Amino acid sequence: MNVVLLPGDGIGPEVVAEAARVLSVVEPGLTLAEHAIGAAAIDAFGDPLPDATLQACRTADAILMGAVGAGDYAWSARNPEDGMFALRRELDVYANLRPSTGDGIDLMIVRELVGGLYFGARGTRPDGTVFDTCEYHPDQVRRVVRKGFELARARSGRLTSVDKANVLATSRMWRGVADDLSAEFPDVTLDHLLVDTAAMRMVQDPAQFDVIVTENTFGDILSDIAAALTGGLGEAASACLSDSGPGLFEPVHGTAPDIAGRGVANPTATIRSAALLLEHGLGNPEAARRLDAALDRVTAQGGTPDQGGTWTTAQVGDALIADLAADKEVGGVGA
Ligand code: NAD
Repeated sequence: MNVVLLPGDGIGPEVVAEAARVLSVVEPGLTLAEHAIGAAAIDAFGDPLPDATLQACRTADAILMGAVGAGDYAWSARNPEDGMFALRRELDVYANLRPSTGDGIDLMIVRELVGGLYFGARGTRPDGTVFDTCEYHPDQVRRVVRKGFELARARSGRLTSVDKANVLATSRMWRGVADDLSAEFPDVTLDHLLVDTAAMRMVQDPAQFDVIVTENTFGDILSDIAAALTGGLGEAASACLSDSGPGLFEPVHGTAPDIAGRGVANPTATIRSAALLLEHGLGNPEAARRLDAALDRVTAQGGTPDQGGTWTTAQVGDALIADLAADKEVGGVGA
């Protein structure tokens, strides 16, 4: 199995280095190859997504990315973040999985990633009016809602489709597509919720949700609420999946320029993303569970400054590798 590592900028290389060390222990047979993206790629190749990087990603089994974005690249024809958007588009990773766990919460948000309000027509009219539009073809909705059903089937059998069908035409179509699809998944209970109600319930009682599937912008906002309820940015992981190509796995956070280079970034979000890579990218849920369980044990003992701890980034990796080795010796859950 070939995994491409895209460390990127800022704390990206620091957190990806730890995730790569840990991946090599959990799955010793993996081939890991590093490529440039973002500002690092502009500096080295004048392009935030060089051809060599894109080709390596296309032929990989899965991709682990850090984060992109740094300083002022106004002089560059393309900025570092363009590399990430271009990669998502090129790989057509339309389903963004954002799990949140902790405090009785075990929630999976499936966010549509390459359509909707963030990708619709936008512009300025002669009178100065500025507009963004939310557009979806039913096929774009069907494929991501299907992903939601499949995940719900593998989990508790409950799917909540979130929309704004009392106002938006795209939402009414979304709801119809979800209802039609539910006939194919008789073992999954589907319910619909308006996005404002979903936001309120998520704050009041997040444990009531299992799998949520929703539009790009709604999912962006709801998943940040869920992340804030369960450990914050340093712990929030994500998987971006397509139908045929490799998945892209990345922490939700950015390059954290305020702490970059100090060796104190929290690698948890990237290591949780590596666990998602094992499960959804390489089809090895058992290894993913072993890694998640080890990380749960280690974070109970200590952590980086953002978690109120004193560990460095590398010390988290060290503790995790020691725990995995001990778990194997005693024949732990996944050994
Ligand atoms: P950020 O996520 O980089 O940082 C926000 C705050 O959270 C900072 O105080 C930072 O120190 C802290 N933080 C984030 N990750 C952390 C970690 N792993 N450990 C400890 N603390 C952590 O968001 P920002 O400051 O708004 O953006 C900085 C840069 O990152 C910008 O250039 C932005 O465009 C880019 N960005 C990239 C991505 C991505 O690559 N997917 C996502 C968001 C932002």
